[in-house]
Amino acid sequence: MKLKLHWQIFIAMALGAVFALVLGEKALIAAPLGTIFMRLLKMIIVPLILTSITSGVAGLGDPRTLGRVGIKTFGYYLLSSMIAILIGLALTNLIQPGAGARVPDTVEEFDLSQLQQPDSLGNILIRMIPTNPVKAAAEGDILGLIFFSIIFGFAITQLKGKPHDFLVNLFDNSFQAMMKLTHAIIRLAPIGVFGLISNAVATAGFDLFKAVGMYMITIASGLTIHFVIVLPLLLFLFTGENPLKHARAMMSAMATAFSTSSSGATLPVTMDSIENNVGVSNKVTSFVLPLGATINMDGTALYECAGVLFIAQAIPGIDLSFSAQVVVVITAFLASVGAAAVPSAGLIMIFIVLNAVGLGDHPTAALLVGTMLAVDRPLDMYRTVVNVTSDSVGTVIVAKSEGETNLYQNV
Ligand code: ASP
Repeated sequence: MKLKLHWQIFIAMALGAVFALVLGEKALIAAPLGTIFMRLLKMIIVPLILTSITSGVAGLGDPRTLGRVGIKTFGYYLLSSMIAILIGLALTNLIQPGAGARVPDTVEEFDLSQLQQPDSLGNILIRMIPTNPVKAAAEGDILGLIFFSIIFGFAITQLKGKPHDFLVNLFDNSFQAMMKLTHAIIRLAPIGVFGLISNAVATAGFDLFKAVGMYMITIASGLTIHFVIVLPLLLFLFTGENPLKHARAMMSAMATAFSTSSSGATLPVTMDSIENNVGVSNKVTSFVLPLGATINMDGTALYECAGVLFIAQAIPGIDLSFSAQVVVVITAFLASVGAAAVPSAGLIMIFIVLNAVGLGDHPTAALLVGTMLAVDRPLDMYRTVVNVTSDSVGTVIVAKSEGETNLYQNV
């Protein structure tokens, strides 16, 4: 009997971890396997998004359907992210992880100039409109590419006769070809995941984890509540579907999110699982998933809120008032929308939230962010799983509300 792909991936994860624990630094020899897998996934993102959204939106037909699906989609993003943030807020106030935190001597002040600076919030919205769609695609500006694909798909719906049919067929068929390619690449996931996990374990600095243990426990607990209780509950309440079936259908996507720490790189796998295992139409999948991977990040939203409260707690003499915490909640949401779907993006965006409450230039804050960066990998892996799972739940909710009932037949 052939082992299901997600079991193959889980076994590869375990083997990767053991491999790194036994061989230590020598395990880095397997790192190229992970790099190759990541490159293959990234390679297909741009053509996949262009063809799937264009054919999906062209297939939605009239603007009213597009508007309706759009409103439901954004409504879900807002709801699920806000719940996540409130969980982060409550837990951080309850556990007070910052109270006993210490910055280890080995940590250097976080040098902001090393990183790409986060955009201002207004710019994130304006940036959605690309000045040149080809440049947007070339530079991996996914939001710009999505915007262009949506309006291009919409323009196709306005054509009639042969030109309309030609373009619809062209994008539909190109999309099918991209999905075939995606499927082939996903078959390599166990090998790639082995390389990614052994690399992550071999380069982890375990000492630091102890210094900020409570911080890590707080974030991990919040993510767990959202992942194990809130998202399954949302799925069940809005669709009546069995969350366990959903988990089974999305297993490969979750495992890929965990290993790559990138919702963007995981997107091809998420789309494959949602279309082939859950059975959602391309129309809904192609609208909700790429957009979700880019702007709907529940795990990141929770992290932004909890992370900033942790920093505030750890700095002596700082006590965030109720209104400052409201500011944290709102900016945490916007920062999660603006965070790129790549590893550690959430940590970079934390400066937006820190700035909003006046802590952006505080030297201790920079030291704390340095520490958080050193231990970010496992948290990043987990929040990416939560981000991807939330996108998949949202897709099923929208699909069901659009009358798609025959779901989960293949799990
Ligand atoms: N790595 C996360 C993702 O791609 C973003 C983050 O750093 O929070 O979903």
